[in-house]
Amino acid sequence: MSVEQTLADLVAIDSVSSRSNAEMIAYLKARCEARGLHTRTYSHIDENGIEKINLVAQTSVGDSQTEVCATELVLVGHTDTVPYDPNWNEALQLTERDGKLFGRGSCDTKAFIAAALTAVESTDLFQLKKPLALVFTADEEIGCLGARRLANARPFTAHYAIVGEPTSLQPMRAGKGYCLAEVTVRGREAHSAYPQIGASAIFRAARLIGRIENIAEQLQSDQHEDFDPPYTTINVGVIKGGSAKNVVPGECRFTLEWRTIPGQKSDFVLNLLREEVEHLRKTDPDFECEIDAARADDSFETAAGSELVQFLEQASEQSASTVAFGTEAPSMIALGAAAVVFGPGNIREAHRTGEFVPVPELEQCVEILHRAIERFCL
Ligand SMILES: [Zn+2]
Repeated sequence: MSVEQTLADLVAIDSVSSRSNAEMIAYLKARCEARGLHTRTYSHIDENGIEKINLVAQTSVGDSQTEVCATELVLVGHTDTVPYDPNWNEALQLTERDGKLFGRGSCDTKAFIAAALTAVESTDLFQLKKPLALVFTADEEIGCLGARRLANARPFTAHYAIVGEPTSLQPMRAGKGYCLAEVTVRGREAHSAYPQIGASAIFRAARLIGRIENIAEQLQSDQHEDFDPPYTTINVGVIKGGSAKNVVPGECRFTLEWRTIPGQKSDFVLNLLREEVEHLRKTDPDFECEIDAARADDSFETAAGSELVQFLEQASEQSASTVAFGTEAPSMIALGAAAVVFGPGNIREAHRTGEFVPVPELEQCVEILHRAIERFCL
């Protein structure tokens, strides 16, 4: 089957993250088993009662059921997509125009999955001397949850992992971490004519946010030159507080997001924030603040000299760079792999109506993955 036909099949299966990905996994499992790969599924019921499945398809599963297979190369693709506008007629029907294939997930990241399947199908797997695995995950678009569950299950260890994401076939060897905290600052409500009997949660939050801005400035002195910008960034993206113009506000909440450079722990900013809260308590003993660390995705970095980085640089004729968006690479690193993010399509086209993958990139990706399998597993 051609890579375009495979991509059309994948796009036709609606796999928005809010739905079960069971249909997609059944399709991929059948394709892998037809090539003689051993498949295992890892099922999970999410908080909405919906089944989400990770699939691992391997050329070798080790000698016993319990043995963890040391895999040489893993190709990873997430099966879920972001939602689509119901008025976008091509969302589930892959459509070619001007050498581009349009459809939801065509770029992010079904193109990589189609390329990986096609590359495996064009390889004589019985000739491989080292184990190869295809890994298809759930719930990437809502926080890389499937890959993290898989890393916790430790179904295999790996030497090298190519994590599919639209990078226009440029190898991405490092990525910033992604962390979130919900901060709730409390005060005491009162009539605004008598502020002295209350305590403004908004004034308190403002003092804390002023200190967060100072943290953001301090962070600029710790630089990782491979990123743009080359330091950990901070954003207060949402703030809500108060109930009326004449009420001293009793509560103010805000969302703090930070993206860490490799080498900095995901809780580094969180600890600086906690120190600032302690400072504020010294002058305002009633200062009440709750910090809910909602997310802490690690950064990742694979050495520029890694054989996988060098292979992909040479095969794609592009030098390696870094990504500022979250990926499943840290989960693969947790399984022992040197991981590189790589795939056809441009991240700037992803997540929007009219998402597409250019046909030449899709075809080149098949070729590069085929060569990667031969390079690392033969
Ligand atoms: Zn993606």
